[in-house]
Amino acid sequence: MSEELRVSSIETRGVPGKRRYAMVIDTRRCIGCMACQVACKAEYDTPLGVNRTWVPYKVTGKYPNVKKHFLPRLCNHCDDPPCVRNCPVEATFKVDDGGFVLQRYERCIGCRSCMAACPYNARFMLPSHRTYTPITNVVDKCTFCFHRVTQNLVPACVQTCVGRARVFGDLNDPNSEVSYLVAHNPTQVLRPEQGTKPHVFYIGADRNHTEYGRDVYRRIEVMESERAAWKKHFDL
Ligand code: SF4
Ligand code: SF4
Repeated sequence: MSEELRVSSIETRGVPGKRRYAMVIDTRRCIGCMACQVACKAEYDTPLGVNRTWVPYKVTGKYPNVKKHFLPRLCNHCDDPPCVRNCPVEATFKVDDGGFVLQRYERCIGCRSCMAACPYNARFMLPSHRTYTPITNVVDKCTFCFHRVTQNLVPACVQTCVGRARVFGDLNDPNSEVSYLVAHNPTQVLRPEQGTKPHVFYIGADRNHTEYGRDVYRRIEVMESERAAWKKHFDL
């Protein structure tokens, strides 16, 4: 294994000489066409029933005043990824230069610890007929299209996004489009209270209409005080 691919949870954001890739998803531009999901399926030939990226939505309002709220999802390539910390055999790891969180299929023992540790349901088990090793089933996930990005291409989902809702680039480069978008817009990350430091940033995600509800926006102190009040109420 090369030096740059060693197991690591070292943060790469703001480190001179290193790249820190991130994705910005502008939900105001997402039209829910699912082209990203299809492009990802085509890129990786993921089996039926599992996805590396997907586009859940919620419908609000009452006919005829209804609205769909899309929240494209994928691995957040966290800077402090609990999946990496919880893997007992170092099968999942973070790439120092770039921040990709990747999977070494030949090491994975299929224990699913990483799946349990990931707060975003970003990982899935490959069906037995698609496993990479004859020994056991393995876990798979989004790679931020490592194989494309390292050849100066953007991820397949970004390339195909017709609304240009998905933008990808190096946050350590102040001249990149992602740096510009993060600097000039209010952004949200999913479940910030988990301390995972996600590197998928949303613009315009509606806190009342995502699968994470208002927790997406709530600071940990607020959540803790609510939890304490709830426990007190039920005398727990
Ligand atoms: S989103 Fe889940 S799988 Fe991806 S790096 Fe974070 S914890 Fe790991
Ligand atoms: S399922 Fe594989 S990658 Fe996940 S924790 Fe177990 S060995 Fe590591």
